[in-house]
Amino acid sequence: MDILFASTNSNKAKELSKLLPNHKILLPKEMGVEFDHEEIALTFYGNALGKAKELFDIVKIPVLAEDSGLCVPALGGEPGIYSARYGSDGVNKLGDKERNLYLLDKMKNISERKAFFVCSMVLFIDHYRFYICQETHEGEITYEPKGESGFGYDPVFFIPKLGKTAAELLPEEKNEISHRGKAGRAIASLIEKHWSK
Ligand code: IMP
Repeated sequence: MDILFASTNSNKAKELSKLLPNHKILLPKEMGVEFDHEEIALTFYGNALGKAKELFDIVKIPVLAEDSGLCVPALGGEPGIYSARYGSDGVNKLGDKERNLYLLDKMKNISERKAFFVCSMVLFIDHYRFYICQETHEGEITYEPKGESGFGYDPVFFIPKLGKTAAELLPEEKNEISHRGKAGRAIASLIEKHWSK
């Protein structure tokens, strides 16, 4: 079955596709739908719900949405909900590599490196029926980027029990333990229940 995912991020769509192997994850643009949600909520789940509602109102069929990001307690929870635009201003938008260097620079004198990813995922069936699942993935911020796979902050996110950064993991290894993997598996079971009949 085709599942419309309220995002412009093809990396997230790829990870979701592996979690929902019996379904096809489609981005709005692949269905000819213009979609560029402005994130105005102050929580991950508020933004995930906002994306889902906006796309549902356009397509009028159930949709999947998520909002995610990296939280560093030693930075007061930054970048948090601003993860995608951390270090960017109205004029210049940093790419992933520059953003990682910006984060490492912010942490250059900080020895407390604990961090966690958050993923809020919404299965939005209609305005009165939706499911939200929020999950985390704990790790530490490295002192330099390492690894080439994944996306975003993966090269600076170290997972002590594996001795690797998230960017050194195979996609299936990352999905096994990640915030998106955990939330996605919970939502996948709901999708099987509601949409596969
Ligand atoms: P948004 O959900 O579109 O606001 O973007 C979330 C941002 O958080 C992404 O652009 C990444 O920078 C970061 N992020 C979320 N999930 C991951 C992940 O699994 N790995 C690395 N970075 C992530």
